Amino acid sequence: MENLVGKKIENYEILSQIGKGGMGEVYLAHDLKLDRRVAIKILGSAVVDNAKFIERFKREAKNQAQLSHPNIVTVFGFIEYHNLLGIVMEYVDGESLDKIIYRQKRLHIYDAIYITRQILAGLGYAHTKGFVHRDIKPSNIILNKEGIAKIVDFGISKSLFDKGVTHTGAKIGTVLYMSPEQIMGKDVTHRSDIYALGCTLYEMLVGQPPFYEDSEYNVMEGHLKKKHKKVNEVMPGTSEIIDKIIERALAKDANERYNDCGEFQQAVHELDKYLAQVESNLFNQKKRKPKSKSFSILAFSGFILAMFGLSYFVFLQVDALLHSEQLNELKKYSFQSLFNSTDDSPGFTGLKKLKSGTNFRINSISFLDERNGFALGDSGTVLTTSDSGNTWQQINIYSKKNIYDGYFLPTGKSILVGDSSAFYFSTNYLNDYRQILIQGNNTLFRIHFIDDLTGFVLGNNGIIMKSLDGGLSWRRIFSPTNQLLYDVSFVNESLGFIVGWNGTVLKTTDRGESWTIEKPMTRKYLKSIDLMGEYGVIVGGGGEIYKTDNAGETWTLINVDNISGLQKVKFINENLVIAIGSKGNFIVSNNKGENWNLLDEDIFENLTNLCSTPLGRLFLVGVNGTIIKLL
Ligand code: ADP
Ligand code: MG
Repeated sequence: MENLVGKKIENYEILSQIGKGGMGEVYLAHDLKLDRRVAIKILGSAVVDNAKFIERFKREAKNQAQLSHPNIVTVFGFIEYHNLLGIVMEYVDGESLDKIIYRQKRLHIYDAIYITRQILAGLGYAHTKGFVHRDIKPSNIILNKEGIAKIVDFGISKSLFDKGVTHTGAKIGTVLYMSPEQIMGKDVTHRSDIYALGCTLYEMLVGQPPFYEDSEYNVMEGHLKKKHKKVNEVMPGTSEIIDKIIERALAKDANERYNDCGEFQQAVHELDKYLAQVESNLFNQKKRKPKSKSFSILAFSGFILAMFGLSYFVFLQVDALLHSEQLNELKKYSFQSLFNSTDDSPGFTGLKKLKSGTNFRINSISFLDERNGFALGDSGTVLTTSDSGNTWQQINIYSKKNIYDGYFLPTGKSILVGDSSAFYFSTNYLNDYRQILIQGNNTLFRIHFIDDLTGFVLGNNGIIMKSLDGGLSWRRIFSPTNQLLYDVSFVNESLGFIVGWNGTVLKTTDRGESWTIEKPMTRKYLKSIDLMGEYGVIVGGGGEIYKTDNAGETWTLINVDNISGLQKVKFINENLVIAIGSKGNFIVSNNKGENWNLLDEDIFENLTNLCSTPLGRLFLVGVNGTIIKLL
């Protein structure tokens, strides 16, 4: 085939060659009309030799263009150029799974599960639309830089298979992933795709497909007659559940395989849950062990730590007593009474803009106690105070990434998340830290722990990460969306919600192990959620407020005049809710989010976040280094 790089075909300028496969070459091109990058797969003339075929191919491309799913590469159209036929599609900037496996030898079980679940989502969608892929294999799965897996070549293979290209030497794909029925030339159904995905999953885990023989004939013999080697045999120690799943997917008789992708998905989900359980048990065991060895160093250091914790607690108590006058002062201004008009307390006397020493936007603020707090912001801004926010010092974290959220414990444990996959873990208030690696270049918006051990990190592209060990290790949870996810809140230890871009609301009923999409109530973005028992509030978009009084079962839209986009909502106590937003909006509800009052405080700056100290002092942060303390 002639080299097309540098050529212009219709409105596409061919930039470079991306790949070469059995049926042609794949190019990166620039769509001059729409000014975007596309991938064009050119089928060689050996493949394209008669009008009937071209007709059918076009028809298929048209059908295929109907498929719209985050895990399937979108087909834009096709082009004819001399005697070449090209299919124009979404360009996925990333790496194909075959290359990833080759590079890493084999994948971590969590990654394999994560990818498989995405492929099942895309494949299941296509199957319900009546499409069968026929050529599922690692080279037809591409992971973009955010770790989203996308299936390519949907349906393209159909006309090629029918044409018998497989037998003429211009091989499409290989027989490595081919189901017995496909090899025998029988009916190819969605179950053939399930078989091929079984082979792909096997390869991710083991490093090579189940029947990996020296000749094509032997590979086919394997698919038809032989039993594959168990994953557990190749890699002792892996769970038997994995082998059960693979065995079911690789059943020689198509009727014995999973009925559909949903059933396969369910099994993988159970495996994921099981592994999480094992992991958390392991962690708990590790923590319990020292107790049995009464004089071990570990036990001793545990004792020291306990003393430390105790003395810290005592310190807080004494501190509180010593400053009882100050304490009264604080109580007087506490938010229980602050907005209570019937109360004869002086109430809300105003606000004080603190000197943060920075002009960068502050994105998050939190306090360990009444005095010690942290503010995080753009361009690596980390500020700390030890005098209730009156003065702030900058901590140099040697990173210029925007920091969006953080988690701090009195033990010194600190975790920061932000732009460009910034994900830092420290045990000493960021004196030093390590980067927690995640795949792709992602923006992480939120970190939230529901107990000492269980935490979540949310980000763009539907990213949900979960930790079961207090933030030491994280694993990616399958997410049913690729929208930006901003905030998370839990009603109790199992029921929780995530909100995000485009009206996205996700729900979990199993401690965040799995998430489902709720029916959207708006298409505007939802920025923040906070739940307090059965009650809860979501804020976002054009100043929209939604409220629930049945633990998120239903949400009602509350209308409040004259407010712009809201950024954060927080229950200060079981009745008092505060929300803040751009243009300095500051609104308060005294009855669990039912009615709202707009406080006219002339803040003017866009506010991004708020927090209250243990005793109820309120701090607001925003653009231009704004940190505000309410007096
Ligand atoms: P194969 O038989 O290996 O799948 P293909 O011709 O289908 O051969 O594709 C060759 C390679 O081109 C793929 O493995 C993938 O790395 C790359 N590729 C195909 N389609 C795209 C796309 N839409 N975006 C980016 N890369 C692609
Ligand atoms: Mg391909």
